[in-house]
Amino acid sequence: AKRRKSSVPCAYDPQMAETLAERLRIETELRDAIANDTLMPYFQPLVRLNNRTVYGFETLARWQRQDGSFVPPDVFIRTAENAGLITDLSDKLLRKACLAARNWPANLILAFNISPRQLSDQFLGNRLLRILKEVDFPPQRLSIEITESAIIRDIGETVRILDQLRAVGVRIALDDFGTGYSSLAQLAQLPLDKIKIDRQFTANFMENDKQSKIVRSVLELGRVLEISMLAEGVETDEQYQMLRAMGCYLGQGYLFGRPMPAEAVPAYLIDSQRN
Ligand code: C2E
Ligand code: CA
Ligand code: CA
Ligand code: CA
Repeated sequence: AKRRKSSVPCAYDPQMAETLAERLRIETELRDAIANDTLMPYFQPLVRLNNRTVYGFETLARWQRQDGSFVPPDVFIRTAENAGLITDLSDKLLRKACLAARNWPANLILAFNISPRQLSDQFLGNRLLRILKEVDFPPQRLSIEITESAIIRDIGETVRILDQLRAVGVRIALDDFGTGYSSLAQLAQLPLDKIKIDRQFTANFMENDKQSKIVRSVLELGRVLEISMLAEGVETDEQYQMLRAMGCYLGQGYLFGRPMPAEAVPAYLIDSQRN
């Protein structure tokens, strides 16, 4: 394993020391959790806004420690990336997610997050497809969500991986659009089927006229590029109505459902048909 000695500050800083110790402890625990395959996929509904039917579910990783506490995925995904554990974590999670999704109605899409670091792994495509084959899950039902980052040095390699996946029917979604590295540059370079508008836009656009104009323009951009659009973080009925009126295809957020364990999905689907 790689030691990140270089990140230890020279001057003694008790605050920092604690975080480093905690970080190392989390890394060790995470290594065990992955080895023992204890991470669980949760699933959050993706909903068609025009008729409020379920389009699919996004897989969200959940890790419960021995003491019962949950570590936020933002934290342990970063830890896994830095510790060289992300491939193993991701492969095991995808396998579990597919096994769960196989029991859903066959029209439902399974969305799955791929971290930026994985995107520069030339074997990513082969590995994903091998897992789908192993668990007998149709590639046409998988949508991978990507965010680009500065660590992608070879955009050509990333495009090659994405094209390989698309050739067998896997869809590609650009996640967190409008933030960080997820920007206009990616629209031009990457083969995309879907854009997920980051929830910070959804959160503010009711009160802020400028934000709503931005969302409107981004939706228009999607129309022109023939890429379907999803709004993240839909929490209120007003946001939902507004996005629907603007012609946004899909939505995701607490209004429609929180991330849930696989066992809760059948009841959610029955319930959603009643409305
Ligand atoms: P993300 O891919 O942008 O996932 C959406 C996040 O927004 C999830 O947080 C979800 O629980 C949260 N969310 C959904 N609807 C709402 C809403 O209406 N309001 C608010 N406030 N939040 C909402 P979560 O599960 O904590 O995941 C955080 C991030 O961790 C994800 O952001 C993703 O970047 C990463 N992540 C999670 N699972 C995986 C995984 O299996 N692999 C990779 N590479 N990254 C993952
Ligand atoms: Ca995502
Ligand atoms: Ca997102
Ligand atoms: Ca995110």
